[in-house]
Amino acid sequence: MSQTIAFIGLGNMGGGMAVNLLKNGFAVRAFDLSEEALAKAAEAGAVRCASAAEAVAGADAVVTMLPAGKHVEGVYTGDVFDAAKADALFLDCSTIDVATARRVEEAAAKKGFEMVDAPVSGGIAAANGGTLTFMVGGTDQAFGRAKPILSAMGKAVIHAGGAGNGQAAKICNNMLLGATMVATCETFAMAKKLGLDPQTFYDISSVSSGQSWSMTSYCPVPGVGPQSPSDNGYQGGFAVGLMLKDLKLASEAAASVGASVPMGNAAESLYQLLANRGEAARDFSLMIEMLEGK
Ligand code: NAD
Repeated sequence: MSQTIAFIGLGNMGGGMAVNLLKNGFAVRAFDLSEEALAKAAEAGAVRCASAAEAVAGADAVVTMLPAGKHVEGVYTGDVFDAAKADALFLDCSTIDVATARRVEEAAAKKGFEMVDAPVSGGIAAANGGTLTFMVGGTDQAFGRAKPILSAMGKAVIHAGGAGNGQAAKICNNMLLGATMVATCETFAMAKKLGLDPQTFYDISSVSSGQSWSMTSYCPVPGVGPQSPSDNGYQGGFAVGLMLKDLKLASEAAASVGASVPMGNAAESLYQLLANRGEAARDFSLMIEMLEGK
């Protein structure tokens, strides 16, 4: 018999993820505060529910894909645990702070439920295409139960360790990405000022020790490297505002364990500056224009 999934938070990411569950034979009970998001999910075949508790009732598993920690905590401190079947599995796929993830998972465990944090790598296109990467925190048993559900929405599902470790992996990865993108941008800007042609510098550095994903998969210079948002006026891709959110989460996490992250902190400051210039919605490789003094 097919499993029923309650899906709470059907926005840019959750909307496509819920459709992929439906395509893979799961039944979906949907709830979102937005009428528009809910209508789209219902059109795709999900059952429209009037509250989170109504969606959760009778579901085998519950997936949440919400903006931030306060929304996740709000939903889980509401009545979802009371409304759930005794053996329901909870999966939070939102990107949130490690401390909130661990608090919510502890609250679930106290009520006798298994839960995982399963944030994603990949943007809206990957959510729509079912090609997300999930980094999962939780017990071996909870991971085993979560894997088939997450596999219906992604291409890779990796167990990162205990509760909160999915979120830890996500912010560590994105802090590294933010810092390497800034470094890549400032380097291309300097290379140009020193008289190097960007394509020539790319040809050299992409096969030398300065190579990184930010350079060879997502080059911030238009017309250089494979197709990326820089070739499209820095539209689409991964928004400056979302990178800033992840860098703030990384700083918070670093402070909570006394980790020294000077490069992450510098990247956070620079992305804040870019957002303050009214560029929060454009792709994060736009950093190069700011560093070129444009
Ligand atoms: P979004 O704002 O488009 O969607 C969030 C949805 O949650 C909205 O439809 C909103 O109405 C709904 N919502 C908020 N509070 C609710 C509540 N209490 N009950 C029910 N619904 C509620 O955001 P998104 O872009 O889909 O991102 C979701 C999460 O995924 C975020 O944590 C984000 O950081 C993460 N993420 C996003 C991307 C991306 O490219 N957009 C990539 C990776 C990770």
